[in-house]
Order: sequence, then structure tokens, then C-alpha cells
Amino acid sequence: MTDPLAPRMRWWGWGVDGQDAPLPKAALALLGSELRANGAPAAPPVLERIALSEPALTARARAKLVAAVGAEHVRDDRLTRVAHAAGRSYADLVRLRSGRGVTLPDAVVYPAGHGEVAALLNVCAAESIAVVPFGGGTSVVGGVEPLRGRFASVVSLDLARISGLVALDRCSQLASFHGGTTGPEVERLLDEHGFTLGHLPQSFEFSTVGGWAATRSAGQASTGYGRIDELVVALRAATPSGELSTLAVPASAAGPPLRELLLGSEGVLGVITEVTLRVRPRAAAQRWDAWSLPCFGAGAGALRELEQGGAAPDVARLSDEEETRISLALASHPAATRALRAYMRIRGHDAGCLAILGFDGSGAQIARRRARARSNLRRHGAIALGPAPGAAWARARFRGAYVRDELIGRGVLVETLETATTWTRLQVLHRDVGAALRGALARRGTPAVVMCHVSHLYPTGASLYFTFLARQQAGAELEQWRAAKAAASDAIAAAGATITHHHAVGTDHAPWLGGEVGRLGIEALRAVKARVDPAGIMNPGKLLP
Ligand SMILES: Cc1cc2nc3c(=O)[nH]c(=O)nc-3n(C[C@H](O)[C@H](O)[C@H](O)COP(=O)(O)OP(=O)(O)OC[C@H]3O[C@@H](n4cnc5c(N)ncnc54)[C@H](O)[C@@H]3O)c2cc1C
Repeated sequence: MTDPLAPRMRWWGWGVDGQDAPLPKAALALLGSELRANGAPAAPPVLERIALSEPALTARARAKLVAAVGAEHVRDDRLTRVAHAAGRSYADLVRLRSGRGVTLPDAVVYPAGHGEVAALLNVCAAESIAVVPFGGGTSVVGGVEPLRGRFASVVSLDLARISGLVALDRCSQLASFHGGTTGPEVERLLDEHGFTLGHLPQSFEFSTVGGWAATRSAGQASTGYGRIDELVVALRAATPSGELSTLAVPASAAGPPLRELLLGSEGVLGVITEVTLRVRPRAAAQRWDAWSLPCFGAGAGALRELEQGGAAPDVARLSDEEETRISLALASHPAATRALRAYMRIRGHDAGCLAILGFDGSGAQIARRRARARSNLRRHGAIALGPAPGAAWARARFRGAYVRDELIGRGVLVETLETATTWTRLQVLHRDVGAALRGALARRGTPAVVMCHVSHLYPTGASLYFTFLARQQAGAELEQWRAAKAAASDAIAAAGATITHHHAVGTDHAPWLGGEVGRLGIEALRAVKARVDPAGIMNPGKLLP
């Protein structure tokens, strides 16, 4: 019989073995010509190379944890500990592959519900054990690293057993889920009733409802469906000081909303055990359109007008010139892509920018929305590229994470980061962050490819999502990454943009949080934490600098 608590992902990368995404010839050629990265694929790492420290839990503390959740739900075998040692950022994957700098939890505990979470937190507070909530473990900012802070021991609290639909209120279009429910499970359970949440982060296959809420996640269709913080109506959380929960009401003037405090709390206040979400009937149809814009500025202008005019698509992505060039070079149908590029060139879009628009709804609704988008885009000099590029993007939307494993295995630094700002400042931010990344990597002697796309639209601004690649500096992979990340984060802060639009703060962005919310802001958050988590056991070292 398969073990229901076996790690969902392979311990050193994304997905499970056998789902690899080998790089096509065009990609290998591009790595060689643009990054001087010609490395052969590395063999998968060996689990036994990760040094195993003796679990630091006292016998008494372990016995109390076992009493709270049962012996089979307190685990400290090698695979379980390593599988909870890190999230899935580039730095995490480098550490896991090399076996160096890996921090292991002393044990992993699997509570079955809110009551058991509360009991575990009581034990951990009494025994001075740090607790790291673990949903899908897909954090890319260090959020699940088992840091123990000033405590002698640390447990990872995995929500795998707290999964499923709690209740569906069809009339109010509200669905409550247990915090550990994964993306595919959410959509499967809603689909049985004809509903959808429409929240599709690229990590959808493994991330969880509680993790989304704890990080203020945004999905690929968030322009239309709303980011998770717009979809969460109510939350229930267990904290070391007791339960915090909010009412599922459409609006309230009862003081500053507690809901907002729990959203994005990254496990430092407590464990989100239940989330009530706004859902909607599944759309009857979906339609993709691709357009080429003469330049990034023209594309951003067109998207701004669509958003501000209330005519934005559900999925809106605008690639800059570099991302367009690379995406077309690597597209899976070379003949069709060559024809597309030739057509763009003839129409004067040699360095055009690709926009993908996705529309959900009834046939008539989609037709109306597409017509508005069409006339707007044409006013900005766009040329229509048909549905194929959008449909191809949608088919491959979750593949990037698998490709990343291949790239790292071939000695390539591949990382993403995201931010958001107003429409007025968007282009300056795009220029400055790109220049900071290129400069930082060039100073380390590694030429880089830096690409960006607009990923989410708001009436007042948009988010920018950067992807950068460079040849790894063998032996100094983390220093190289840190230099690029710090340069980009400084550029973001200098431009007055947010240090994170949807990846959250974790450890990686914590040094920049003060610049964004101010010293008093940090102190106010610390004061809340001190009240609900007086011993400070919840996720030490995350969010708060
Ligand atoms: C390949 C890849 C693609 C990604 N794409 C996107 C994307 O498109 N959009 C996006 O927003 N993010 C994306 N992410 C980042 C990540 O998937 C999100 O932050 C996601 O919301 C994390 O969910 P999770 O369940 O995996 O949480 P985890 O990684 O397990 O935890 C994240 C943080 O939340 C805390 N936490 C988790 N569960 C709970 C809980 N129940 N209660 C309290 N605290 C909790 C953890 O302690 C940690 O601090 C991506 C990551 C990867 C690796």
C-alpha cells in the first residue's frame, strides 16, 4: 500500500521522477551561444550525501508530540526530514543538489485537523520547539526552511492530513477548504459542483490553499479572477494563544479586518487551518488570443487602457522584447514559429512584444470582450497572431518548473522575481531592475539573459515578473545568485516598488521589508506576533527582519 504521507515532490527538485522536461536542441544551442553554458546534464543527487544531524528533540517532547497526533504522524526518517528542509527557490535547489548548507527539521508532524494543530502548538510552546507550517513546500523565498531561531529544536508541521472541502454554500458562491488542500484537489472538488476558484499559480500542482493565503499568492488568471487575497472571504487559524477566526460576510465595518492580518502572515502568527473562498460557476468557454505589439511601452499602454476601461481579459501577459525573442526561439513548433516571426518582421515588428490574452465566459460574453480588446490593441499598433500561441502557452503553463530542473542540472543559474508598481513608474522599474540584474551578473563575469513580462493588471498599475539566466559560477553558485538578487531588490526599493507582488517575504525579502512598511510598521507587526505567539515559536526568521 502506498504511504499517504510520502513526499509529494522529489526531494531535490520539482514534480516526481519520470516527468522531466528535456531541453530541445534550440534551447541547448541558445544556452551555448548566449550564456556560454555548455554543461552536460548532471546525474540526480544522492539522498545519502545530505548529512543527517541527530534529531534534537528531547524524549519528553517527542513523547508529547506523539501523544498529540499518534506515533505514525511524528516522523524523523531521512527522506521525510530532507523533503521538509527547503522550499523550491533556486537557492534551495542548489543547496539540496550539493548537500551543502541544508537545514533539517528535527521531526515532521502531521496533525489531522484544527484540534490537533492547536494541541501541537501547545506542546511546542511548553517545550520551546520552533514550528514551521508546511503546505506544499513550494515557497521560493525561504518560507519553509526549518530555522530554529533561539530554540534548541524545530518541527515542520505538514498540513497533508488537513485536506478537503469543508462546506459549499451554492447560494452565496462560497466554498470552505481545509488549509492543506492542494490546487488540483480544490478544482476537482469544485468541479463536481460546477464551480471553479480560477486560482492558477504556476505551482498549482503542489501548492495549497493555506499556503496561498499565507503568502498572498496570485494566479495566472488573477487579472480576471482576482488574487487569493481578493478571493479569501474568511479564515480560521490556530495560534499558540488560541483560535483566530473571521466571519464569512461580504463586507464589514467592524474595525481593521483581521482577515488582512492573517493573509500574508507566512506562518509567523499561527497555522491557517480553514479558508473560505469566493467561487464562481465554471465558465462555459475559454478563448486565447495572441498579439504582437510594436514595443513594450505600447503594449503596457494598451493593457492599461483595457484594465482601466473595465475590459481586461482574465489572463493578461505582455512579454518584453527579450522574453518574446527567447520564447519564439524556443517554441515547440519551429516551422510555425518561423512563419510567425516572418509575419511580424514584414509588419514592422522585428523586435515586437508578444501579448497573450485569455477570456473565460459564455460565447457571447467572450465575443463582446474580445471585440473591445481588438479595437484597443489595434489603436496601439498591435497585429493579431491568432489563437495558437496563447493555446500553446496554456498547454505548457506548468512546464517551466520542470524545465528549471533541467537547466540547473546543466549548470545554469535560473531564477525569477516579481514586483509591482504604478502605471506611471512601470517602464522605469522595468529598465532599472533589468539593468541591475545584467550589471550584477556581468560583474561576476557571467553574461545574462534577463526577460520580463507584465503578469497582472490593476487599474492603478501592474506587476512585473523577471526571469534571468546565466552560466553558474561553479563553487560560488549561491554568492552569484545573492549578488543578482540583492542588486534587483535594491533597484526595486529605489524605484519605490514593492519588494514582492506575490512570492511573499520569507527570509529572502525580509531585509527590504522595513524600507517598505517603515520601522513603526515592523514594530506593530512584532507587537501582534508577541500577543498571539508570546514564546515566538512560530516560523522564526521569516517575514519580520
Ligand atoms: C515553480 C514555482 C512556481 C510558482 N508560481 C507561483 C505563482 O504563479 N504565483 C504565486 O503566487 N506563487 C508562485 N510560487 C510560489 C509559491 O508556490 C507560493 O508562495 C504558494 O502560495 C506557496 O504555497 P504552499 O502551499 O506551497 O506553501 P509553502 O511553501 O508550504 O509555505 C509558504 C509559506 O506559508 C507558510 N504556510 C504554508 N501553509 C500555511 C498554513 N496553512 N498556515 C500558515 N502558514 C502557512 C509557510 O510556513 C511558509 O512561510 C511558485 C513557486 C514555484 C516553485
